[in-house]
Amino acid sequence: HSGFIAIVGRPNVGKSTLLNHLIGQKISITSRKAQTTRHRITGILTEADTQFVFVDTPGFQTQHTNALNRGMNRVVTNSLREVNVVLFVLEARQFDERDQQVMGLLPQDRPVILVINKADLLADKSELLPFIEKISALRHFAAIVPVSARQGKQLDTLLEAIRPYI
Ligand code: GDP
Ligand code: MG
Repeated sequence: HSGFIAIVGRPNVGKSTLLNHLIGQKISITSRKAQTTRHRITGILTEADTQFVFVDTPGFQTQHTNALNRGMNRVVTNSLREVNVVLFVLEARQFDERDQQVMGLLPQDRPVILVINKADLLADKSELLPFIEKISALRHFAAIVPVSARQGKQLDTLLEAIRPYI
């Protein structure tokens, strides 16, 4: 099995930290220059029979608040349509208009996994429940996985959630 996985979210939610921890230990190949037609490959996690190929999605790097137009949205949406699964990363308890904007560009025809990062910052894990209820009322998610990218917590759970789609 081999599949493409986009990691999307507003700046500072922890996308780079997540990617580094996902591929960090078991890394076999990374190339900062490799390209697919629409994507830049940022890391590959290789297991015995499965390859997780993480890619950047160009439209998400250049977006600015109030600067999104139809053309830009189409670029983002089209590039996300070429991946097997999208990780939509939020920061626990935080959901602002930039998160909302990114969420509006997520494809309806691809599995999207909601990754709630920085769970280590929660004093009480029960705070997650109302947050999950609020966000999951907005769209369907293939899975919802709270993680701590920085502490490397629940990343195996995240890989298991991705696995069926690649
Ligand atoms: P990106 O802009 O989405 O790529 O976010 P970064 O990976 O650069 O992370 C932004 C900031 O959040 C950095 O200071 C990280 O150290 C911090 N951060 C990332 N993941 C976690 C986490 O799981 N817990 C905490 N407490 N901080 C995190
Ligand atoms: Mg980053």
